[in-house]
Formats: sequence, structure tokens, C-alpha cells
Amino acid sequence: MKFTYSTYNLQMQHTFTVSGFSRNTSPVVLIQIAYEGLVGYGEASMPPYLGETQESVISFLKGVDLAQFRNPLQIEEILQYVESISPNNRAAKASIDIALHDLMGKILNKPLYEIWGINPEDTPFTSYTIGIDKPEIVQTKTKEANNYKILKVKLGSANDKEIINSIRSITQVPLYVDANQAWKDKYQALDMIHWLDQKGIELIEQPMPKEQLEDMAWLTEKSPIPTIADESFQRLDDVQKLKGVYSGINIKLMKSTGLHEARKMIEKARKQNMKVMLGCMTETSCAISAAAQLSPLVDWADLDGNLLITNDVFEGVKIVEGKITLNKLPGIGVKKKTSSLLAMTINKRYDK
Ligand code: MG
Repeated sequence: MKFTYSTYNLQMQHTFTVSGFSRNTSPVVLIQIAYEGLVGYGEASMPPYLGETQESVISFLKGVDLAQFRNPLQIEEILQYVESISPNNRAAKASIDIALHDLMGKILNKPLYEIWGINPEDTPFTSYTIGIDKPEIVQTKTKEANNYKILKVKLGSANDKEIINSIRSITQVPLYVDANQAWKDKYQALDMIHWLDQKGIELIEQPMPKEQLEDMAWLTEKSPIPTIADESFQRLDDVQKLKGVYSGINIKLMKSTGLHEARKMIEKARKQNMKVMLGCMTETSCAISAAAQLSPLVDWADLDGNLLITNDVFEGVKIVEGKITLNKLPGIGVKKKTSSLLAMTINKRYDK
């Protein structure tokens, strides 16, 4: 197995603001694992709040010795080794997990969903995210998003109600709300959720700070709409911890260390009667298409990271009239775009 990686910076279509910070670019590391003429693609995406950087990912990847494994299909064994290297570095681990799954599909010449016995027709609609902004800009973004059947609205600013009203003055599509931990008081949070419920909001993601689990359990019990853990939910063991605290969990490959653990999370959540959302970071079509392979298994999908950037290097899963549409390509279902301009913008290349 030959393993290479490069850093790359994703350009955001709009300045993206959520409760706490704004950004125009997002750093990623793209990786390739080659084996007998086939190439598996993977990606690590590093939003600032997860604590990983291109430097920390590269430094982790430099310490990974895949040459000790003869067969990339021994995915359990390889990922166990990768996990054992350090307790953190989740995005870096996800990049290896995604590339190995892509390679597995290419070796078996089947899409992952087919290998896993998942029906590709059952994909959900994806939501499209509207970041925090002035009401008039929120309206412009809402109009631009008229191809999507569901919007996810970021709240947690001083003008939350104004933002929702400005969207509702244009469209009645279902809305998800993500407060990114902004509401510190459970009574105020409940008032806001009742108000949102009347505006036709279908679910509320991470309304309160991630560590306020007692308040969250209280809120979930009283909330008329499902509550979803995002920042509170990181690894597989958290599924058990959050039972009764939230109605559901938001699984992202950059938190779960990839597809292998994400599948286990879905299974465990289902056993506990919890709802499942599949989300993403700002990512290329590589990581998005990987996550999309699992999307027929979840209640809600928020896989729009590749739609919010202008310099995707991959082509993969498509959104057709708002619905996630899987293709028949083997593995995670992506092809690299061949534009030389895109290749030139990849900053550095490392071989090992
Ligand atoms: Mg979120």
C-alpha cells in the first residue's frame, strides 16, 4: 500500500458564521492509498473548534505505517492499529478510514452501500445550511437555496427570531435549527423551542452548552420537537451516555473517525430508540460521498459541506431536487476532477 497526502484549502461561497465564529476558508488534508493499480481517496477536514490543524493531521499521518499490512481488506485490523496510535486526531483517522473503504469498494468493484446491503433508493433529502447573517442576507441565501427542500438555519445570535421570520416570509419548507450551544438558560431555551415549533421547525440541534446534560435532559423531556446532540456527541461511547438526554445524535465522519465507527453508532442508537442525523463539516465531495453511503439508514441528513465551497476537487454524490442521489461507482463513489488549475492549487505533496 502506497500512502500520499496533500494539504488543501476550501474556499467558502459565503462567509460562514455560526454561534461563536466566522470563516471564509476551511483547511483539509486529502489522502490517497494506492494498492495494485487502484487508488482509495480520503479526506480530513478541520473546522477550528475540533482542535486539529493541517499540521497536526500531517504529523499524525507521518507516524502511520500502513506498509506493515499486506491486504487493505483487513480493515478491522488496520483501523484498530490507527486508533491505537493516539486518543485524538479524529479527522486524521477519518481520512485513513475513508480511503480504506474507498479502496475496499474498488477492490471488490462495488459501491459501499451495495457491500453493506443498503438500498440506495432510500436516501433522504439533505438540508442546506444558512449561516447567521443580517436578515436581508439570510433572505438572499434562502432564495439561492430554492433547489433544496429542507433548510438548516444557524441560530444563537441576538436576532434569532428576525432570522426565522425573514426566512418564513419567503418559504414554508421544513427547517432544522442549529443553535451551536448558544442558549445557556433552559427556561429561555424551552420558550424559544416553543416559538420555533409554531414556526414549523422540525428539530433543534445542540440548543445548550455541550456539558449541560442535566438541563438538556429536562429540555428534551419538555420539547415539542426532537433535540439532537452535535457538540455533545463525539465517539461511540457517547451514544449510551446521551440516552434520555437528547432525542437523537448527529454523526459526522470527522468526529467518529470515519465510516467504520459511524456504522456502529447508527446501530447502537437504533437499539436505544434514538434518532440519527448524519452531518458533515466543510468538506469536498470525497468525505461527503463517503458519508452519503450510509444516508439511507438515517432519519435526517445534513450533507451539504461540498455545496458551500467553490473549489471542490472531486465529483461524487449528487443532490437531485434536494434528494441525496448515490451513483454506481465503486467505493465511496467519487472521481477526481482533472482540471490542472485545481491540481496546482494543492499546496504541498508528501509521499511516504
Ligand atoms: Mg451542529
